[in-house]
Amino acid sequence: AWGGRVARARVSAGRIVASSVEQSYIMIKPDGVQRGLVGEIISRFENKGFLLKGLKLFQCPKDLAQEHYKDLKDKPFFPKLIEYITSGPVVCMAWEGDGVVASARKLIGATNPLQAEPGTIRGDLAVQTGRNVVHGSDSPDNGKREVTLWFKEGELCQWESVQTPWLIE
Ligand code: ADP
Repeated sequence: AWGGRVARARVSAGRIVASSVEQSYIMIKPDGVQRGLVGEIISRFENKGFLLKGLKLFQCPKDLAQEHYKDLKDKPFFPKLIEYITSGPVVCMAWEGDGVVASARKLIGATNPLQAEPGTIRGDLAVQTGRNVVHGSDSPDNGKREVTLWFKEGELCQWESVQTPWLIE
């Protein structure tokens, strides 16, 4: 019985590394890095049980920040947002798993940290919209777009976690 369980788990682990599996681009913003919250924020996603596919500390150039936030380019806060995101290193992450995009948004909490629920990253660790410590993709399509935008192909790892059979039946 045990052997069968492990074999089935490997199949599901095989499925989870396939490129068709949902990915979310999660980024610790410069305030999160400066405030020493990198370990704390990564732990929230690690502890939840998603699979880490890519991770790097990165100084974001202005044109990449503008491309990432292009849907907000007409907002009055856009110039300040670009200045903020490029003001110091960010931590770029690709996390994978069924439902990761919506779940990560829940873990992150509302855009305005004063409205974010306690227990969420922004609810626990931030006070202002302009310094809300973390980004998470808002749809599976944007998850793919943003992971591709921020990571080169060789920067993502194809691997299976030994925890998978204990997370996914
Ligand atoms: P989210 O990051 O929660 O998906 P949005 O996509 O609406 O939120 O905005 C992207 C980012 O732009 C926010 O996380 C925040 O850093 C910044 N931002 C949004 N609204 C404001 C605002 N009114 N003033 C300053 N910065 C803002």
